[in-house]
Amino acid sequence: MANNTPMMAQYLNIKAEYQDAFLFFRLGDFYEMFFEDATLAARELEITLTKRDGGKDEPTPMCGVPYHSASNYIKNLIEKGYKVAICEQVEDPKDAKGVVKREVVQLITPGTVMETNMLQEYDHNYITSLSHFRDGSYVIVYSELSIGESSIALITDGWDAVMHELYNQPIKEMVVSSDLPETLQETLSEKLNIPLSYQDDVSFNAEYRSLCNNLNDERLVQAFSRLLNYIETTQKRSLDHLQPAKLIELDHYLSLDMYSKRNLELTETVMKKGKHGSLLWVLDQTVTAMGSRVLKKWLDRPLLNQKQIEERFDVVEGFLHGFMERDALREALKSVYDLERLAGRVAYGNVNARDLIQLKQSLEKIPELKTILNQFDQERIGQLSSSLHFPEHIVSLLDAGLQHDPPVSITEGSIIKDGYDDKLDTYREASRNGKQWIAELEQKERQETTIKSLKVGYNRVFGYYIEVTKANLHLLPEDRYERKQTLANAERYITPELKEKEQLILEAEEKSVELEYRLFLEIRDQIKDHIPAIQYLAEVVSQIDVLQGFATVSEANQYRRPHFSTDRLAIKNGRHPVVEQVMKGNAFVPNDMLLDHETDILLITGPNMSGKSTYMRQLALTVIMGQIGCFVPCEEAELFLFDQIFTRIGAADDLVSGQSTFMVEMLEANHAIANATENSLILLDEIGRGTSTYDGMALAQAIVEHIHDAIHAKTVFSTHYHELTALENSLDRLKNIHVRAEEHEDKVVFLHQIKEGAADQSYGIHVAKLADLPAPLIERASIILEQLEQSDDEPLETHTGQLSFFEQAEQANESQRTVNQKEDGVVDALKHINLFEMTPLDAMNALYRLQKQA
Ligand code: ADP
Repeated sequence: MANNTPMMAQYLNIKAEYQDAFLFFRLGDFYEMFFEDATLAARELEITLTKRDGGKDEPTPMCGVPYHSASNYIKNLIEKGYKVAICEQVEDPKDAKGVVKREVVQLITPGTVMETNMLQEYDHNYITSLSHFRDGSYVIVYSELSIGESSIALITDGWDAVMHELYNQPIKEMVVSSDLPETLQETLSEKLNIPLSYQDDVSFNAEYRSLCNNLNDERLVQAFSRLLNYIETTQKRSLDHLQPAKLIELDHYLSLDMYSKRNLELTETVMKKGKHGSLLWVLDQTVTAMGSRVLKKWLDRPLLNQKQIEERFDVVEGFLHGFMERDALREALKSVYDLERLAGRVAYGNVNARDLIQLKQSLEKIPELKTILNQFDQERIGQLSSSLHFPEHIVSLLDAGLQHDPPVSITEGSIIKDGYDDKLDTYREASRNGKQWIAELEQKERQETTIKSLKVGYNRVFGYYIEVTKANLHLLPEDRYERKQTLANAERYITPELKEKEQLILEAEEKSVELEYRLFLEIRDQIKDHIPAIQYLAEVVSQIDVLQGFATVSEANQYRRPHFSTDRLAIKNGRHPVVEQVMKGNAFVPNDMLLDHETDILLITGPNMSGKSTYMRQLALTVIMGQIGCFVPCEEAELFLFDQIFTRIGAADDLVSGQSTFMVEMLEANHAIANATENSLILLDEIGRGTSTYDGMALAQAIVEHIHDAIHAKTVFSTHYHELTALENSLDRLKNIHVRAEEHEDKVVFLHQIKEGAADQSYGIHVAKLADLPAPLIERASIILEQLEQSDDEPLETHTGQLSFFEQAEQANESQRTVNQKEDGVVDALKHINLFEMTPLDAMNALYRLQKQA
C-alpha cells in the first residue's frame, strides 16, 4: 500500500473499520481526511483538496477542517445522511513512543446526534430499528436519544402495515439486520428515504435489564437489544440515560394509512413538503418546542378512546372560557425551555452550566403555572395543575450552586457561586488577596522609587513583573529588583516576594477551576437522579401547551366541541380548516354532512373544480381533529369514532403517465378494501379516472358495490361518471349528493354548495369555455356530447354492471359502424386489434364486444 509511513498505516487500519463513514483523523489542531474521504468531503463541504507528499508514490489526496470549528462541518455531513467517525489522539504526544495512539471515540450518525445545533428544535430526531421474525411479524423501535425516550410497536399484519406505520415519521436513521430481504431494504431507503445502518447482534445485554423489564415478548426484547447494541457500539459510552421503552398499542389509535397521512396533508403539504398549508400549520398554536413536537405525535396517532378524548375536550373548553388566564398561561409557557432535551442532556452527560440555568429558569415557572391553572376553575385543568410537582430541591440546588450567567465552557471556572463551597471560597479568597497585594505593591513601589509610570503587569510566559521604562531606570536603586526581561524601551523585573504571591495566586486559581469543575459534575449528578421527575413535568407541560393551543385556534376560528355518536355523523355548516384560512374574508362556503344507519355511502357528482374533493377532505380533517381532542370547524357536530381512515385522493404530483396514476389508484383503493371495517371512513376521489372510461367506470362501480355489500364502511365517493348516480336505485345505503353550479349567461358559476341528489349536467364543456378554448372546438364538443348522451340513454344495469358498461360501449360503437356483414366485421376488427397497447381489461372488453357481434 502506498504512503505507508507509520501514521498512514495507523490511518488505514482505523479506516478499514469505518468504511461507511468519513474518518475525521485528528492531527494537531485539525481533523484530516485522506483518499476517497478527502475527495468526497472536499466536494460536499466545499473545502480545498490538497495533497500529501507520498515520497516515491503518488501523492495522497487530503483535506482538513480545524478542530475548533469541526461541528459545523460534521452537521453538514450528517444532514446529508453521512456518518462521521471522530478519531482522537488518545495519549499525550509527549508520552508517545513512535506514532501517537489514536482511536475512534464516537461514530456520529444522523440518528445519534445529540448536539443542539444538529437537532431540529420542532422535530423529533428518531433513530429506529426494524426487526423481522420468522412468524412474519415485525418490531419497530423508535428512540430519541436527545430525550432518552423510546417506544416500541409490534406489527403482525405484514410488511404493508410496516410501511404505513413508518411513513412520515421523523426517522433520521434505521438500524436493520443485514439479512432483511434486499427488496425491503430498497423500499425503506428509496421509498421512505431513510438511511440504513446494520446491526446483527441482538443478544440481550444484562446491563440494560431495567430498560426491558416491561417487555413481555422475546421479539420486543430482541428488537430493542438490536437498537441498544447499535447505539452502544457507535457512541462508545453507557446508555444509562435511556428510559424503558413504552409499548405502542397500535390498536388504541385511529390508524391512518400512508396515503391518508400524505394526501390529507396533516403535517406537510404534498407539493412543497413544508408545514405551511398543512393541518399542523393551522393547529399549531403551541408556544414551546416540546408542545409543537407533541402535537405532531398526536396528529400521527389520533385516539380511539372516547373517555380520553372527552378529557382533552374538557381542558380545551376550560381554556377557551378563561381567555385572560390563557393569555397569562401562554406568557408563562414562553419562559419554559426545552425541558425534555435539557433532561436528556443532563442524563447523557453533555450538559453545560448554561443549560442548567435554563433548566432552573424553566422549573422556577412551575409554581406560576400552577397558580394560573388553578384560576380556570375546571376540574381537569385542576388535575393537570396537581400533577405539576414543583421540584424545589432541584431549583434550590441550582440556585445555590450556579452563577447566574455562566460561560459555555465547563472547565474554565466562573460557574459556581461564592458561598456554595468553603474550599472554593478559600481558594478564591487566596487569589483575591494575592491580587489585592499586587495592586497595593504597585502603589508602594511607585512611592518608594518615585517612578510614577512604574507598573505591575502579567503575562503567561513570565508571570507577574514590575516594569520600568528605560528613561526612569536611573531612579531605581541598585539591586532593588531582579531583572527578568529587556524590551525596547523598558525593563521588567521580579522580586522573590512577588513570585511567592504569584505562586499562591496561580495555585489557588488552578485549584479553584479544578474544584469548580468537580462541583459542577456533582450538581449535574444530583440532578440526574431526578430525571424521571423532570421528564414527567415536561410531558405535562407539553400537553398543557398543546391543549391551550387547541383552545386558542378554536377561539380564533370558531371551532365547536363535537359529540360522539353511534347513530349518525351530522355536521352542520362544516368547513375545511385549511382552505378557509387560505381564502381571505368569509369566502369559504360551509356545508352540511350526514351519514347514518340509512346512509353508508355518499356519491358526489359535480363539475371539476366545484369543491368535491375539498368537501371530502374536510370530513377527514374534521374527524382527525375531533379524535386528537381539538374542537372542529363547524356550527355543530356529531361524529363517529372511526377506527381507520383510508383515502384515495388525487394529489397534484401523481399526475404522471396515465398507467401509473391508475396503478397508484388501484393500490390505494385495494388497501382500503382489504383493511377497512364497518367503523372505518373511506374517501375515494374520482376512482377510475386514471384509465380509459369504461375500465374506470366498471372498476368504480364494482368498488362501490363491494364496500356497500361487504364492508359497510362509511364512504364518500366522488365521480365524474354521471352514470354511476343510477346506483342509488340499487344500493339501499347509497345516497347521491352533488355540488351545485349555476349557469349565468352561458358561463358556469361554482357555488360550492352541496345539495341532495345527482348533478344534472356535466359542466366540463363550460369549464373548457372558461379556459378560453377556441369557439369552434367548443361547438364541436357540444355536438359530440349530444351524440354520446343519446347513445347513453339505456338505463344502467346494476350489480352485473361491468357488463352493462360494455354493452353501452358496444352500442356507441354500433351507431357509427357501417359494416353490415357481422362476421366480416369481427374478423376485420380482430385483425386490427393492437394487443400490445391494451390493458387486460381492454382486451376483455374487446373480446366481449366481438363475441356479441358474432
Ligand atoms: P373538485 O374536487 O370538485 O375538482 P376542489 O375540491 O379541488 O374541486 O375545489 C376546487 C377549488 O374550489 C378549491 O381549490 C377551492 O379554492 C374552491 N372551493 C372548494 N370548496 C369550496 C367552498 N366550500 N367554499 C369556497 N371555495 C371552495
